[in-house]
Amino acid sequence: MVTLFVDVILPLPLNRLYTYRVPRGLNDQIQERTRVVVQFGKSKLYSALVARVHEHPPQDYQAKYIDEILDDAPIIYPEQLKFWEWMSDYYLCSMGEVMLSALPSGLNLSSQTILQIHPDFDGDFSELNDKEYLVSEALENQEKLTLQEISEILGQKTVMPLVKRLIEQKVAISEEDLKLKYKPQMVDWVRLTPSCQQEEVLQEKFDELSRAPKQLEVLMTYIKLSGWHTANPKPVKKTELYQAAEASLAQVKSLVEKGVLEVYAEELGRVGEFEDADETDFPLNEHQEKALEELRINLNEKPVTLLHGVTSSGKTELYIQLARECIRQGKQVLYLVPEIALTTQLVNRLKHRFGNRMGVYHSRFNVNERVEIWNRALADDGYDVVIGARSTLFVPMPRLGLIIVDEEHETSFKQFDPAPRYHARDSAVVLASIYKAQVLLGSATPAIETYRNAQTGKFGLVSVKKRHGNIQLPEIFVDDLTKAYKRKEMKANLGPMLFQAMEEALENKEQIILFRNRRGFSPTLRCQTCGWVPQCKNCDISLTYHKYRDQLSCHYCGFHQHVPHTCPACGGHEIKLAGFGTERVEEDLSLLFPKARIARMDLDTTRNKNSYQRMLSDFEAGDTDILVGTQMITKGLDFDRVSLVGILSADNMLHYPDFRAFERSYHLMAQVAGRAGRKNKRGKVIIQSFEPEHFIIRKVIDNDYEGMVKDQLVHRRQFNYPPYSRIVLITLKHRSRELNQDAARQLARILRGRFGDRILGPETPAIARIRNLYHENILIKLSRDSSNAQLKIELLELLDEFRKSPNYKAVRLVINVDPL
Ligand code: ADP
Ligand code: ZN
Ligand code: ZN
Repeated sequence: MVTLFVDVILPLPLNRLYTYRVPRGLNDQIQERTRVVVQFGKSKLYSALVARVHEHPPQDYQAKYIDEILDDAPIIYPEQLKFWEWMSDYYLCSMGEVMLSALPSGLNLSSQTILQIHPDFDGDFSELNDKEYLVSEALENQEKLTLQEISEILGQKTVMPLVKRLIEQKVAISEEDLKLKYKPQMVDWVRLTPSCQQEEVLQEKFDELSRAPKQLEVLMTYIKLSGWHTANPKPVKKTELYQAAEASLAQVKSLVEKGVLEVYAEELGRVGEFEDADETDFPLNEHQEKALEELRINLNEKPVTLLHGVTSSGKTELYIQLARECIRQGKQVLYLVPEIALTTQLVNRLKHRFGNRMGVYHSRFNVNERVEIWNRALADDGYDVVIGARSTLFVPMPRLGLIIVDEEHETSFKQFDPAPRYHARDSAVVLASIYKAQVLLGSATPAIETYRNAQTGKFGLVSVKKRHGNIQLPEIFVDDLTKAYKRKEMKANLGPMLFQAMEEALENKEQIILFRNRRGFSPTLRCQTCGWVPQCKNCDISLTYHKYRDQLSCHYCGFHQHVPHTCPACGGHEIKLAGFGTERVEEDLSLLFPKARIARMDLDTTRNKNSYQRMLSDFEAGDTDILVGTQMITKGLDFDRVSLVGILSADNMLHYPDFRAFERSYHLMAQVAGRAGRKNKRGKVIIQSFEPEHFIIRKVIDNDYEGMVKDQLVHRRQFNYPPYSRIVLITLKHRSRELNQDAARQLARILRGRFGDRILGPETPAIARIRNLYHENILIKLSRDSSNAQLKIELLELLDEFRKSPNYKAVRLVINVDPL
């Protein structure tokens, strides 16, 4: 008999896979891509994923035995493992880190995993064995237990198989998964089975049940509660039923077993909705028809196709058509949206169209749990469509045929922390290539990288320039704040043009959206007289004010200078930090327009689902006159009565210290502007700025996306920024500024020795200290075209070496490939 070994991925940030030995008795059961329980470190147990089964003992250590096999079938597909491997190579992180992000945390178990009783668990212990019962009871009493503690309760070392069953039966849930779970919870409802909905069948059942009076009573109670004989029967909760009938759960169960009742889970307050998909789609308009034709051709010919359609051109309808075509071929659709929390309107719209053949993955507004979606996705009859934010890329979809990335320019597709710091749009392209699936990227304002790929012919390109229903794009004006300040015409942060337009709109009972971007975490300096903002002499970006050094510096090239006391442009003395937030705006508005109903939508005001949705529905119902908000309001909201959009200050976006600042400002302004004038009349947009002639503002006014791209590409090429290069950002973090700077200089020297002038920095970032750790950045610019695999391997080797140097052991190195 052979001795088998397995290379496993541990749910830890380890740079390699570890090899364990398979007890001979398990030779027949061991399979790749299943989880096994292994010991790692002194006494800690982990669920680890088998990447490979082979017969080669490790060279440099004695292999330990695996303790147990957790799954009797693989929990991911071979293509997914391949995808993980690509991600780990490309984004320079470990397989363990990829796995931790990819699997719902209920599937990544360790001795430290904390379990809680599942909030939906109805207290029915009857199907649990003795040990499971013991653990569930302990969970109910103590609320939280680690696997370690469960192991002590049971007096046995291996508890993961048991925990696995409890999770699958929805008795227990990991604390992490619970955090992601949206409440109000799913509720179990009961209804008559389809056959019993026929009067004669029901009558038969009544007769049969005469021998089981208690069950009969339950059935009668159901009929009564639901008003089944009336025109409008109402849904009945399982708990409501057995309590009203003074029965036990077992009696309800018997009725289910006898085929009288069926139990179904549905979100409280939404039951009945979206039961069946509404497959009657709108007839497409002529522009959509044409685009659909072109899309079909491009999707077949190109690995990726970009749909560039102005706001409200009906892109979603095109996605739905293409998704349907894909499903008809027996394939599956992955639909990625930027922040699912902010796309409830869209998700509901799609839910209506795809019904329960669509799964919604991971969101605080969502009814399903990650583990649940995962398990159903793995089942033979998985979903047709799975929609969600970036991590949805990891859901098993064996028949993947199409990936749609909606609003592909959105920065939230990039994961910042923790590793893997992947970009979901770019990763989607790779995932699709593994499955030979099609990729459709859509946006009104595509990312420059994407657009460039379309221009060079690498991606297909389809444009729609007309809004649905021939609604006109809004008219855009700019108000010159320098003048307004000089003439003392400002009312708080409103210039005369915006103020007047707001008065008119309120008069006409039209709605207003005001946009105030809060991204400017580091205040810029501005001359109050002429609007001058200090710029880096080497880069096309503005300098950042560093508080602790009282200095201006460029966080891309390291150029720095003192804060000037007089303005070099006009000689003025009033150089001030610029900045005001949405909260201040809201306050000012309530004084300026005391009768208006004002709402503010930003992170602070929408922490829970209800406030966000209430704000949306109030606005939709016309109960709000002015909505003030951050980027949140730019996200695909579809409002009919908005006649005016105000952008309070274009300047701080434009001067954000980043080479992408112009591009992003364009995206933001164009997207916010897109909220105006959706149905009745041409909307109006007013942009306030100290630089009304700014190139980007002009491009927004002219709706000249292509012109913006053309200009930006010139600058990107000149300074060798993406898309002409790829950037790897290395951030060093340590409690001591001096030590951290030492380390950064040392590392930069080492890297220069190998990579020469591709290394930039070290540079102290604008926020030099976060949570008591000082930061230093080193940038590596790699060429775009050649494969950088070899360079990356060398880079990792150098970094590994550096990590070992005794002086800098405690310095944390964070690697970010393609940072945003
Ligand atoms: P986009 O995603 O391009 O901003 P949407 O797909 O949200 O545009 O469409 C904008 C609005 O137009 C939505 O309210 C949508 O329901 C409506 N719409 C789009 N296409 C059609 C169509 N062919 N028939 C009827 N309504 C449509
Ligand atoms: Zn000045
Ligand atoms: Zn610079």
